[in-house]
Amino acid sequence: MLRIIRTLYGDERRRVLYYRHDNRPIDRLRGSCRAWGPLVRRMLFFLVACALAPPCAVRCEARSQAAGSAHSEKSAEQIAQRALEHAIIIDTHADTPQMMLDEDYDLADPQSPYMISLPKMRAGHLGAEFFSIWVSVDWPKQDLIHRALDLVDVVYEQVGRHSDALGLARTAGDIVQLHRQGKIAILMGVEGGHQIEGDLHALDIYYRLGVRYMTLTHTKDDELGDSSTDSPRWNGLSDLGRRAVERMNRLGMMVDISHVADKTFYDVLEVSQAPVIASHSSCRSLCDVPRDMTDDMVRALAKNGGVMDINFYSGFLDPAYRDAHQKIEKEENAEVEAARRRYEQEGKRFGYAEEVTIEHKYESQLPTPSYQRIADHIDHAVQVAGVDHVGLGSDFDGINSAPRGMEDVSKLPDLVRELARRGYSEEDLTKILGGNVLRVMRQVEEVSHKMKPEP
Ligand SMILES: [Zn+2]
Ligand SMILES: [Zn+2]
Repeated sequence: MLRIIRTLYGDERRRVLYYRHDNRPIDRLRGSCRAWGPLVRRMLFFLVACALAPPCAVRCEARSQAAGSAHSEKSAEQIAQRALEHAIIIDTHADTPQMMLDEDYDLADPQSPYMISLPKMRAGHLGAEFFSIWVSVDWPKQDLIHRALDLVDVVYEQVGRHSDALGLARTAGDIVQLHRQGKIAILMGVEGGHQIEGDLHALDIYYRLGVRYMTLTHTKDDELGDSSTDSPRWNGLSDLGRRAVERMNRLGMMVDISHVADKTFYDVLEVSQAPVIASHSSCRSLCDVPRDMTDDMVRALAKNGGVMDINFYSGFLDPAYRDAHQKIEKEENAEVEAARRRYEQEGKRFGYAEEVTIEHKYESQLPTPSYQRIADHIDHAVQVAGVDHVGLGSDFDGINSAPRGMEDVSKLPDLVRELARRGYSEEDLTKILGGNVLRVMRQVEEVSHKMKPEP
């Protein structure tokens, strides 16, 4: 605890690196330093939160195989409508907190340029969002927890500011209760094991603050294990990683295997006593990228009882987009960097919205897949894992290209209609849209209760 408080008072005049995109690093300079007032407020918030918290503790052919025979347009519309009315749609990954923290982005902004906003969540029938507490792997090492706590703080701040529409959920039961009240449940997941700074006690603190999953790595190997986008350092999960998984099981925090290397994934399955999740990963057999999961991994995850939440990033869904994007990536990055430098020379801040404008110019030249490609990945995962092990993990606001027709969270009902057209029943849709994640959360809670006897 004391070490973390010292971290909170760490060097404020620091170089800050932003990596907004899931797979593409971007550096930025943040010129201003913060005053002590907000810092003290954040520290008080952190201490109060700790004190108040409970004790520690695919296409047509595949389509019909996965979902039964296709429904007529009319019955599909009826099934989709019923699912939208009754199911709790849970998205397990969105990176919006960065915008909230760095640009004072308010979720209620009716002119929001981002993929997640309150009006868009309402239009999309969203029941629960897991906001990502994500700090770049290149952030100053002694300041990772500080930045993560700042992100947790802005999530609390937004939930408090819009308490008529949002509520913080700590359990599966909370999500159901908030849904009954007509509110959207907000949850948090820490994206990247580097954000515990090698100290397992940080897991307890994140848990007390409401964090309900941690992704073991981000884009680089960390103290807990190897990443899918780095060369092997541990040959899978490290000893500390094994102890982290055990501690997360005990706390009741879901273990997220998105981003980890294949070997790390299999090691986690050997260690974890509870089902695990892939909060934002798609199918490698449909798009060969290391961030996606092989069919063998998907099967193993199902055997473990876990859930794989399909990532909406065009580059993880579609090989044609992936290849075309690789060709223009350098030029696009160079233009973003040049614009950033220009803004800095003019003494202005280069914001996420400016960056998105440049990206759109490049993205518009690419063969962006249709949102139906998301349904292809869901179909494939259902074929391989079964309908009880697939969900949604959009990665909204962490990606620079979402499929056509799925530009933001408001478009989710179109995906529900597409799945109904492909033959999914209302019961199947209820599972895929959020029921499977709720089930895993409940199982993780049960394992925690068993491992942690009442004091
Ligand atoms: Zn990610
Ligand atoms: Zn993310």
